[in-house]
Amino acid sequence: MRELITHIQQEGVVVNDDVLKVNSFLNHQIDPQLMQKIGAAFHAKFANHPITKILTIEASGIAPALMTGLAFKAPVVFARKSKSATLTDGNYAASVVSYTKHTTNQVIVDRQFLTADDHVLIIDDFLANGAAVHGLIDICNQAHCHLDGIGIVIEKAFQPGGKALRAEGYPLKSLVRIKSLANHHVTFMED
Ligand code: 5GP
Repeated sequence: MRELITHIQQEGVVVNDDVLKVNSFLNHQIDPQLMQKIGAAFHAKFANHPITKILTIEASGIAPALMTGLAFKAPVVFARKSKSATLTDGNYAASVVSYTKHTTNQVIVDRQFLTADDHVLIIDDFLANGAAVHGLIDICNQAHCHLDGIGIVIEKAFQPGGKALRAEGYPLKSLVRIKSLANHHVTFMED
């Protein structure tokens, strides 16, 4: 997605060889016009699927997921990070190691919002090691819903998440794939 690449080139901050900061349009301040185009791009990629739910994880997945839900006219469910290890019967739950905070969170989704009839598209902002997406897949499996696809805004292709998910056979599509963040420079797969 050319416009997203331009935003990353102009506003992205390479924190180190592993982490890219895009706080000006995705992770802190949000660019609604760009998010709308991101939603339309995911819609185009999965248009032939009968998506009934968009599933993401709080907080940074919500903006692109919301716009994707708007494009599909489907509700958006976000897995909530729960401090409590005590679960109620009313929730699906999974453990997710946070890439940026190096902590393990329990994430939960209320059972009433995901059922076996649902066709789900998982959306997230970044893909690194794949922990967040695997947590959401775990929740989909618990709900016995149909996982139609996984859409990622920015995939760091030099980290193992994308390769693992594709090897596992999941229909993963990323809008932008980064080859490297070495030398404080963003190199895209297309370069
Ligand atoms: P994973 O679970 O695939 O290891 O990491 C993905 C999650 O960690 C995303 O939900 C995202 O919030 C966060 N994340 C991973 N890498 C980056 C990064 O380079 N920049 C930012 N801003 N977030 C990241």
